[in-house]
Amino acid sequence: MNKHISCPSCGGSDFKSVRKPYYYRGKREEFNIDACGDCGFWLTNPFPEGQDLAAYYETEDYVSHTDGKGSALDWVYNIIRARAIKSKFRLINSFVNGQPSLVDYGAGTGAFLSFCQTQGWKGMGFEPSAVARENAATKGLTLLDPSKRDELEVDSVDVFTLWHVLEHIPDLNDTLRYFNSRLKSEGLLVIAVPNHESYDAQKYKDDWAAYDVPLHLWHFAKSDISNLGSKHGFKVEEIVNMPFDSFYVSLLSENNRHGSMRPISAFLTGLKSNLRGAKSKNMSSLIYILRKA
Ligand SMILES: [Zn+2]
Repeated sequence: MNKHISCPSCGGSDFKSVRKPYYYRGKREEFNIDACGDCGFWLTNPFPEGQDLAAYYETEDYVSHTDGKGSALDWVYNIIRARAIKSKFRLINSFVNGQPSLVDYGAGTGAFLSFCQTQGWKGMGFEPSAVARENAATKGLTLLDPSKRDELEVDSVDVFTLWHVLEHIPDLNDTLRYFNSRLKSEGLLVIAVPNHESYDAQKYKDDWAAYDVPLHLWHFAKSDISNLGSKHGFKVEEIVNMPFDSFYVSLLSENNRHGSMRPISAFLTGLKSNLRGAKSKNMSSLIYILRKA
């Protein structure tokens, strides 16, 4: 385990512990989340690195790597994902002219990329999991390991998408700098991440499943995306709620808290989160559309 001594967003060094969530995908293990005293950014601290971090992904049911079709929840997840893909496509389509070149960063098994290609977009993807890349290959998609990302030409990309990916990336600043260098002028950086200021996050506290420690290294609020974006030459152009995530995350959080899914309670919490967050853009997960300034 390593420890952050300075805030990756603002450089401050004053941290205060705010949450003690735990790893719930395997043997339960407590972690700590600190908040930066200067800018308010939340981060998993201390955090595992390299092979130690990779070990936390090696559960049989890490569904975004396998298209898991086992449990009822995998089934729900896959249905939600299929619907979400189309709405994500339509959203981005409303911000671009013509058919853009897309790079899906952290493409999983390539479902989003594959859909965009059927709509005529040129696209490629990066994915660190060899299992996920092999799954993508069975659908005729070639994904590259992010260690090869420098092969991409500078100023060559219209849109980068990161669907629940940025919170997993250790080298946060290097990666944001990379996106800026590869994007064309006025290119888009589309980032979906959990929102720890949502009602469901505040209700479930340490049991909130979207802390997902230690897989999630960073826990973003709207101000953090704005700060990190402007630090790396981006401006937040739009914030979009992700209403399905409130229900899915609430189900997992009920399981963390009570040992069972408790669907009615999860549904009511998800609903409340969505009603409260609708206007203020404060649902369980948010999509940020950033434009290269
Ligand atoms: Zn800070």
